[in-house]
Amino acid sequence: MKIGILGGGQLGKMLFEASPAFDIELYFLENDVNAPCRSFKNAFQVGNILDENDVYNFGKNMDIISIEIENVNISALKRLENEGKKVFPQPHIIALIQDKGIQKQFYQKHNIPTSEFELVKNNTEKKLFFENNNHLKIQDFVQKMRTGGYDGKGVQVLKTKEDLDNLLFDVPCVLEKKVDIQKEIAVIVARNPKGEIKAFPAVEMVFNPELNLVDYLLSPADIVQNIAQEAENIAKNIIEKLEMVGILAVEMFLDKQNNILVNEIAPRPHNSGHQTIEGNKTSQYTQHLNAILNKNLGNTEIIEQSIMLNILGENGYEGIAKYENLDKIEAINGVFVHLYNKKITKSGRKMGHVTILDNNKNNILEKMNFVKENLKVIA
Ligand code: ADP
Repeated sequence: MKIGILGGGQLGKMLFEASPAFDIELYFLENDVNAPCRSFKNAFQVGNILDENDVYNFGKNMDIISIEIENVNISALKRLENEGKKVFPQPHIIALIQDKGIQKQFYQKHNIPTSEFELVKNNTEKKLFFENNNHLKIQDFVQKMRTGGYDGKGVQVLKTKEDLDNLLFDVPCVLEKKVDIQKEIAVIVARNPKGEIKAFPAVEMVFNPELNLVDYLLSPADIVQNIAQEAENIAKNIIEKLEMVGILAVEMFLDKQNNILVNEIAPRPHNSGHQTIEGNKTSQYTQHLNAILNKNLGNTEIIEQSIMLNILGENGYEGIAKYENLDKIEAINGVFVHLYNKKITKSGRKMGHVTILDNNKNNILEKMNFVKENLKVIA
């Protein structure tokens, strides 16, 4: 069984690492010759995942086609699907998710809780929206590019009236009501073609406000049982309504009144599921393969509390990556280092992650602080 993955980044690398447990061969299509999957030499094909011919020609030699990034050419995937290939997640779902505007309309249609929004074509329309609704304050909104944003790029949190004169992104956007965030949580859920659905317990993302990136992630989330259950139910409801096959990450806000609001979804293994490799009975990568191969889904229970820290390129360094104090970190009990095999480091670039397992709250935070203070990626 040949499985072709569009994208050859760190998510692809960890998917590959889960693959020996299955009777499959994985192949990756990726345009960056220095990408993390480059070391799987026979499995690595260079090509553009946004190019119709490249994707089609890659996919026609596969039995199943999947993705590790959602920014891919949809028409090639639709052609492959029409010709009888299994494409999971299904191309029309990837298309829906590529556009945050259509995503929001999907939540609205299915009564899935999400913050109020307006779709606008450009900056002129945004200004008009506030002129026509002068009871609304611009400070209560966030604007997001409908397509192409990632890792917080493409999101502008509006803070003052003056921001209306300095609007970024003169392209189609979602204007979204700002949520009074108590916590950001995520649930990863999987569904196979038989219709079986399983969710991983909710995790909590602690944000670094400067970089607008996840600082660290806590599994399980520090929330009461009924909220955790509600978050799982929302995630299961979304994947069921989509009838999607594969793994889906559902990012949510818990607001200060304890309402859960869906922020966005990603139809692939996700940054908020790395800790499942060591922290849960089944990893998100194994679960994705279970799902697309129509196998029974694995047990998602947590083995031990964990923290996942992204290893980011140190500010002010760019060039061939060097890792400081790696052996000190690897020597700590319950600490697992994953490097992504990226040649070049840049300020804030995701170079790897560390998972820390420890059921004692004080110990786990102490280990995390040690990792943060000592592990540096420089050039
Ligand atoms: P990306 O797809 O680039 O990750 P997100 O939609 O997840 O972008 O937004 C990035 C971050 O911006 C969120 O994690 C959150 O901290 C903040 N944010 C996004 N939407 C809202 C909102 N409606 N209210 C308040 N903060 C928001």
